[in-house]
Amino acid sequence: MIDAKERFWSKVDKGCSCWEWLAGKFPSGYGAFFLYGRTERAHVASYKLFVGEVLDGYEVHHICENRACVNPDHLKSLTHLQHKNEHYGGSETEFPCGHERQEKNLYAKSRCRICFKKYKQEWYEANKDEILAKQQEYYLRKTK
Ligand SMILES: [Zn+2]
Ligand SMILES: [Zn+2]
Ligand SMILES: [Zn+2]
Repeated sequence: MIDAKERFWSKVDKGCSCWEWLAGKFPSGYGAFFLYGRTERAHVASYKLFVGEVLDGYEVHHICENRACVNPDHLKSLTHLQHKNEHYGGSETEFPCGHERQEKNLYAKSRCRICFKKYKQEWYEANKDEILAKQQEYYLRKTK
């Protein structure tokens, strides 16, 4: 049986910086590699094979932002929140808008719920007449 590491490298083009995955890819652009009885994303497999375990609750991030890259030096394991920060800015404790980054303030996994609520409120205020008129119309139709 071929060693998983050997099998892995046979599908990689080791360039001078990013190491591109040459074999099958997911529609998302991540490489696909069969490891330990399941199909893994290739960069996750690379991390597991050459860096170490991916701890529970951790995700593997591309420092180079190149999804097809499997260079272990370009991979970093982060918690979900840390990972969102890498992609959406802000810090570990703050959203880019300055609000506190807490699980309860998360909207759509990475957005600030406080700002979203405010935005919704403002939208309602700006379109109030129209919304109320529509509600009225709906109510009248129902009671006819
Ligand atoms: Zn890379
Ligand atoms: Zn990432
Ligand atoms: Zn905010």
